[in-house]
Amino acid sequence: MIVEINYLPQWIPEQMSPGTVFVLDNPGESGDAADPFWAVLACPSCATIGLITRNQMVGILPVICGSDQCSGQFFIRGDSLVSRPVS
Ligand SMILES: [Zn+2]
Repeated sequence: MIVEINYLPQWIPEQMSPGTVFVLDNPGESGDAADPFWAVLACPSCATIGLITRNQMVGILPVICGSDQCSGQFFIRGDSLVSRPVS
């Protein structure tokens, strides 16, 4: 599954549909200094909203959905979300 990312220019929770990313107002200022929080992403499968880090944003680390009902794992590749093959 490949989903094109929809970037929100400002934080409007009602518009966080699946596959939407909102880059934080001050990215990199909170979380782990080595891999700080960078954006908010709505899972492309279930729309659960979660914080993602800089390394997830650039595709080094996979994004894992925080919902108990969803096993979504995917990588951010440019402007797309690409499912991670389940091994
Ligand atoms: Zn999900």
